[in-house]
Amino acid sequence: MDSISIENACRFCPRCGNQAEVAGCVPFRCTQCGFANFFGPVAAVGGLVTNEQGELLLVRRAREPGKGKWGLPGGFVDRNETIEQALSREVLEETNLCVKDASYLTSFPNLYEYAGAVSPVIDLFYRCEVVDRGAIRLADGELDSFLWVNPTDEHLAEMAFPSNRRAIEQWLNSV
Ligand SMILES: [Zn+2]
Repeated sequence: MDSISIENACRFCPRCGNQAEVAGCVPFRCTQCGFANFFGPVAAVGGLVTNEQGELLLVRRAREPGKGKWGLPGGFVDRNETIEQALSREVLEETNLCVKDASYLTSFPNLYEYAGAVSPVIDLFYRCEVVDRGAIRLADGELDSFLWVNPTDEHLAEMAFPSNRRAIEQWLNSV
């Protein structure tokens, strides 16, 4: 089954069950009960972690979306969590690295395909200082490899998400 956008997947009102007269509208507005759904974007974070040589940490994704491709450690922001808390939690969960200081770099919109639906995401990127780079241990089943590199065009061509690529390009221009 082909992937469809989240708004096209929403063909019935989740509140009253009324069928949408036209699917794919943003926002979704139910003509029966007035319920509205704006479909995001949801927020996600990515960390740019460097070592003593100024090389950037890339992690390879072990599952879809983007399986086998490179990315920055990070993930979705949970409810009731600040962006900084999400950054620390995701970097710790994915790499076992403890963020001690983070500074905002940039943001780029992204699209995330999951279970046949594509949702809009806003990715926020932070430069990260970590406590002990040697503590790196990847999350089983999520990531299968890591690199400390000066990213080249070959690395950038193998990034899972264009937003991560653009963040790294911006970081390269800023260091
Ligand atoms: Zn409704």
